[in-house]
Amino acid sequence: MTRKVMIVEDESLIAIDLKFMLEDNGYEVVAQANNGETAIELAFLHKPQLILMDIKMPKLDGLKASKIIEQQLGIPVLFISAYSEKELLLYMKQDNILGYVMKPFSEKKCVACA
Ligand SMILES: [Mg+2]
Repeated sequence: MTRKVMIVEDESLIAIDLKFMLEDNGYEVVAQANNGETAIELAFLHKPQLILMDIKMPKLDGLKASKIIEQQLGIPVLFISAYSEKELLLYMKQDNILGYVMKPFSEKKCVACA
């Protein structure tokens, strides 16, 4: 089961919200980044099992960062974004892309897991 996750999101309130949700549900947030460049560095350093990645970010966007992470590390990426364009769908064809969650997102508790 996936436990170690990394959050990559440039909007700090969304990142904090997501961190609490994940920790509440038993995930360990091993790293957080607010741009694609830092995301790549931290992915190498912490080797998370899953990356939750925003798309529109400064320096290097989530699409480009995920491509590099896929090539170098093969870590699966789940996009969190309000941005759903053709470009995103093309990148979704990368092997490591799990899919995407649209913002604003909300927590859905698993009743059977409680
Ligand atoms: Mg953003």
